[in-house]
Amino acid sequence: MSLYEIPITKLSGIGEKRAALFRKLGINTVGDMISYYPRAYDNWADVTPISSVVPGERCVVRARVSTPVNNVRISGGRMMAKLSVSDDSGYLNLVFFNNKYISTMLRYGEEYCFMGRVAYDNYGYQMVSPEFSKADTSEAITPVYNLTAGLTNRMLIKAAKDALSMLPEVVKEPLPYDILKRYDLCPLSYALINIHFPSDIAAMDKARRRLVFEELLTLNLGMRLMKNRSSEDTAIHMPVDHTPEFVSTLPFELTGAQKRAVADCVGDMRDKLSPMNRLIQGDVGSGKTAVCAAVCYNTVKNGYQAAFMAPTEILAQQHFETFSKMFSDTDIRLELLTGSMTASEKKKSRARIESGESDIVIGTHALLSESTVFHSLGCAITDEQHRFGVAQRARLAAKGEHPHVLVLSATPIPRTLGLIIYGDLDITIIDELPPGRTEVETYFIGTDKRDRALGFIKKQVDEGRQCYIVCPLVEEGDSELESANDYAAELMLGPFRDYPVGILHGKMKAKDKEDVMARFAKNEISILVSTTVVEVGVDVRNATVMMIENAERFGLSTLHQLRGRVGRGRYKSYCILVSDNRGETTEQRLGVMCRTNNGFEIADMDLKLRGPGDFFGNRQHGLPQLAIADFSDTETLAQSQEAAEYLLKISPDLSDDAMRLLRAKITKLFSATENTMN
Ligand code: ADP
Ligand code: MG
Repeated sequence: MSLYEIPITKLSGIGEKRAALFRKLGINTVGDMISYYPRAYDNWADVTPISSVVPGERCVVRARVSTPVNNVRISGGRMMAKLSVSDDSGYLNLVFFNNKYISTMLRYGEEYCFMGRVAYDNYGYQMVSPEFSKADTSEAITPVYNLTAGLTNRMLIKAAKDALSMLPEVVKEPLPYDILKRYDLCPLSYALINIHFPSDIAAMDKARRRLVFEELLTLNLGMRLMKNRSSEDTAIHMPVDHTPEFVSTLPFELTGAQKRAVADCVGDMRDKLSPMNRLIQGDVGSGKTAVCAAVCYNTVKNGYQAAFMAPTEILAQQHFETFSKMFSDTDIRLELLTGSMTASEKKKSRARIESGESDIVIGTHALLSESTVFHSLGCAITDEQHRFGVAQRARLAAKGEHPHVLVLSATPIPRTLGLIIYGDLDITIIDELPPGRTEVETYFIGTDKRDRALGFIKKQVDEGRQCYIVCPLVEEGDSELESANDYAAELMLGPFRDYPVGILHGKMKAKDKEDVMARFAKNEISILVSTTVVEVGVDVRNATVMMIENAERFGLSTLHQLRGRVGRGRYKSYCILVSDNRGETTEQRLGVMCRTNNGFEIADMDLKLRGPGDFFGNRQHGLPQLAIADFSDTETLAQSQEAAEYLLKISPDLSDDAMRLLRAKITKLFSATENTMN
């Protein structure tokens, strides 16, 4: 029986109530506990002499209890225990609250290690509620886990220990032996034990490298498997290029970059033996929708259906309207299919899709449902692809007989990372904006100037424009709902008393979100207070101000996406970044935003300043959530890529028996994303 099938309640001391807390952390089974890796480690061997402790910093001191424990009652009936400890270099005061056992646990004259943050007050240096252990303890490095209210690090340590004790004598090894050897990786059982309880730093490094390697390899293999499938297929042949007749109906001329993008796609669909598998990367506002329309037109005129999937209802609706205008003089039949339609509308729509009465189908996730059957899907397009899991994209393509696949992204990414994410996808970059765009003027201000900014927003609204205000990012543990609501309430009762204000946040039901967005699009709401959910590509051309609170907390690519919500129409637009942080990196980062509107430049800077790990911090790319790896370890990344190629050469579909466990890992990694996206 796999440890992933044994519920966490089988561990001693974990009853139903506590198990519910573990579940909050995603730990349902003993196996989950084992793969719940520490966030950091405390190193008890890294001792600081008391004379060198620094207030505000966490450290370990090794000291002797030099006074008896003094228990005092303080306000609210609470108990406080005070004592002093000393080493060769000085004294340190310790304070504990509400722990009546301190005097039995810490004995006068004995030596212990204490770990905690040092504070400095009138009485000298002190530590409040430090952790401690006997000075001669053998465990020098202890794990630090991410917690949730009600669970302590001690409880997780105990659970991890208990869980590891259930590992079988021989742990089955998912990595083939020659891979272990070639990359000098430790066996899985060693890695699992030492990632939680390393005997020393070297052991921890070894364990980590092995687990990171395995995870990246799994990711690599999964991505490649998905692609290999399509590269062996025979493409649907679309011999005729109908682009000229399509562009003649457009109210504008395509930019050079748009023309190249259309030509790339039409070329793929006409000439390639295997289906098109292409990514179009273009900054916000670069006109990707028109390119898609051209591709759809070509698909239909060559005798097939096209599907265009968007991540939200409002976006699908918008695309539908855009397409309706573009195709109004043609005989092309458009279809909209979204989750919010009534059951009978959906049924009718699906019937037309299945019979082939609809030519271009625009929709949301509803397109993926089993009951959506295409008559002859020739091309599957996914907009804002980072909003979808990789598996969801594949599922859209599976609605046809190897249709051509096109994905659109506004998030530029560096090449090394693109290799994994997009693998053998061909890439077209749209590096030109339609003419007549003015850059969004961007300012970086402190909170002392906020009132002026709000005044400016009022003025814009008085002139008929609309504004977005992105409220502060929620601190860990705070409720998103409360903080967004509190923030909006302040504005509604204060400066914007007489204006229609709407709220949008991630915890709202999809339907309510769509509602608010739709009302904003119709200008029934003037000021939209929102969390970053507003980031995805809606087009409200009347919106001219984007104000972002606590701007220093957002990644640059998120800031850029948010800013892309304004400056889409003919009105001069503004982005106001609010932050009191005047640190060097913040100045640099927000400075870039003020200096340029170019997404690629911004992404490059982001990477330079914060490293690739952060780039994927908020799962910008629809990849599965990784438990331990990030993309900053480029060496392991490269090795895992090489290993993936090697394994697929031996066994192209990994059907080889030696790869059974790896296969299971791939399934597990990718199935976890499927339902958590969006
Ligand atoms: P994105 O690449 O962010 O999806 P859109 O496709 O929404 O951008 O296009 C942004 C706006 O630019 C739309 O209002 C669209 O009508 C307009 N647009 C697109 N291409 C051109 C063009 N070649 N000339 C003028 N306007 C264009
Ligand atoms: Mg778009």
